[in-house]
Amino acid sequence: MVNCIACGGTLTYDITTGFLRCNSCSKCYAVEDAEIIGAEEEKVFDATVYACPKCGGEIVGVNNLAISNCSYCGEQVVLKSRMVKLEKPERIIPFQITKDMCKRMFKEKMSKAPCVPSAFRDEGNLEGFRAIYMPHWIYKGEQKGEVSFYVNDKPKKNQTEYYYHVKGGIDMTYEGMVHDASSSFPDSMSEQIAPYDMSKLRDFAPGYYAGFFADAADVASEVYEFEAEREMVKASKEKMIKMAYVEDKEVKVSNDAFKEVFHSEITSASLAMFPVWFMTYRTKDRVSYITMNGQNGRMAYDIPVSKPKFLLFSLIFGLFAALFLFVLKLNSPILCTLFMSFVGIFVVLRHRESIMLITKKAGSSSDFGENYAKVERAKRKNKEAYEAAKRAGMEDLYEDVYLTPEVNYQSREDYIRVKETIDRKRKERAGAVFTILILIVSAIMPILSELVMIDGGFMLRFIFVFIVIAGIWLGVENLIRLTETEETGKILKGGFAVFAVILCGVTLTIFPENLFYYTLVNVISLLMITITALDIVDKHNRLGTRKIPHFDYSKFN
Ligand SMILES: [Zn+2]
Ligand SMILES: [Zn+2]
Repeated sequence: MVNCIACGGTLTYDITTGFLRCNSCSKCYAVEDAEIIGAEEEKVFDATVYACPKCGGEIVGVNNLAISNCSYCGEQVVLKSRMVKLEKPERIIPFQITKDMCKRMFKEKMSKAPCVPSAFRDEGNLEGFRAIYMPHWIYKGEQKGEVSFYVNDKPKKNQTEYYYHVKGGIDMTYEGMVHDASSSFPDSMSEQIAPYDMSKLRDFAPGYYAGFFADAADVASEVYEFEAEREMVKASKEKMIKMAYVEDKEVKVSNDAFKEVFHSEITSASLAMFPVWFMTYRTKDRVSYITMNGQNGRMAYDIPVSKPKFLLFSLIFGLFAALFLFVLKLNSPILCTLFMSFVGIFVVLRHRESIMLITKKAGSSSDFGENYAKVERAKRKNKEAYEAAKRAGMEDLYEDVYLTPEVNYQSREDYIRVKETIDRKRKERAGAVFTILILIVSAIMPILSELVMIDGGFMLRFIFVFIVIAGIWLGVENLIRLTETEETGKILKGGFAVFAVILCGVTLTIFPENLFYYTLVNVISLLMITITALDIVDKHNRLGTRKIPHFDYSKFN
C-alpha cells in the first residue's frame, strides 16, 4: 500500500515533478523512500493483481483501486483484485507524458485522419487512456576477438573478379537492444512505439507504480536473444565494411555467419519497465488497442474505418472527379463508363489483396513472444499431468502426452523469415499499384487523343475488349483465391465489382447508339462497386483490429 505518513491518504506518482504526492494533504515524498510503500524487502514488494473475469487479462498496481473496465478485452466489468508479492524488475523509465498531453496529442492525430469513428474523438472515451508499465528485456552484448572474412568485386561482364581478405580485430560492447517481455502486449505495437531514451532509466522502486498500472513479464529473456544478436551483427558489419573501405564490394557472408565472424555474445539481459499509455476500444466482436510511448508520445494504434464516413468521403471525392471530368469536357456517358470500369478493376484488385492478407494473418501469428508463452504453458500443463500420473502410478499412460507437446511454435528463424516475407510482399504490392497506374494512364492517353473519333476508332475498341478480358480474368482469379480461404461466403461481395467491370466492358464493346444505356450501366456499376468497396472496408477493419483476447492462465502464481 502506498499511503501518506502524515494523513494516511493515498499517494500518487506525479509525472511533472517526479515525486510521490498525497492526494489529500499534498505532502510530497521521494519515490525511493521505501519505508512509505512497504518495500523494505530486497527482492519483492506488495502489489494488487486485477484480473478480468471475462478474458482473464491481468494488470497490477500498488494502490487499492476499483477498476471497472479491462484494458485487454475492453469489457465494462469490475476486475477482481487480490494481493500478491511481486518480484522487483531491475529498472524503470518513469512516465514523462501526462494524461492531458497524451489525450491532446492523440486528438490532434485523429483530427488529421479522415474516416475515424467519432468514438475516437469522444472526450469520454479518451478518459479511458490508462498508464501501464510494460516489461521489456534490455540486452547487453559483446563482440571481441580476431575478425577475418572475404569480399569480392561486384560481378561485371568480361572482367576478372578479385577477392579481398578483410582481417582485423573487434572489440565492441553493445547495450540497449530492447524486446517486449509480455505475451499480452503485441510485439508489433511495442516495436512501433520504440525507441525509448535509455538515459532516463532509473533503479526500480515500487513508488513509481503509485497511481499507475503494470503488466508482468512472461516471456523468457532467451527468446529474443537471437534478435538482439542480429542487431549487434548488423551494426558491426556496417561499421567494419566502412572501416575496411570495401563498401563498393560484394559481401557474400550471410548475417548469420557474421555472428560467428564477430564472436557475438549476449552477456546479460535485465528486466525494465517502460511507460505506455494504453486505451482499448471495443466493438461487438473486435477490439482495438491505442498505445503511446509514455516518454516521447510515439503512437501505434489499430483504428477501424467508419463506414458512413467512408461513404461520405467517397461521395465528396466522386463529386470532385465528376466536376473535373465536366471541366475537361470529358463527361460524356461513354467516357464515364470507361472511367467506371477502371475504378472497378482497381476495387477488385484491392478486394483480392485484402482477402490474401486476411488468409495470411489467419495462418500464423507473427508475435513470437505470444507463441512462445503458449507453448511453454502447454508444456507446463503436460508436465503437471505427467507428475500427477506418476504420483498415481500411471505414468505409462501419460508418457506420450508429456513427450510430445501438442503445440508447436515457430522457431526464431521462421519468425524472422515471416517478417522478411511480409517486407517483400509490401514491395511487391507497391510495384503492382505502380503498374496499374501506368496501365490506367497509358489507357487514357490514346482515348484523349482519339476523342475526336469516339464513333469507334480501332484503339478504343481494343481497350474495351481489354476491359472485358480483364474483368473475366479478375473474376476467375478472384474465385480461385476465395476458394483457397475460409472467406467463400463472401464470394458474392467481391463478385459485384467484377460483374461491374464486365458489364462496362461489354457495353463499351457493343457500343449502343442510345446514350441512355450508358447512364443505366454507370448507375448499376457504381452501386455494385460500392458494395465491394464496403466489403473492403469490412476486411480492412478486421485486419486492423484484434480478436477478443483470452488468457487461460495467470502470470502471478
Ligand atoms: Zn497526506
Ligand atoms: Zn478482459
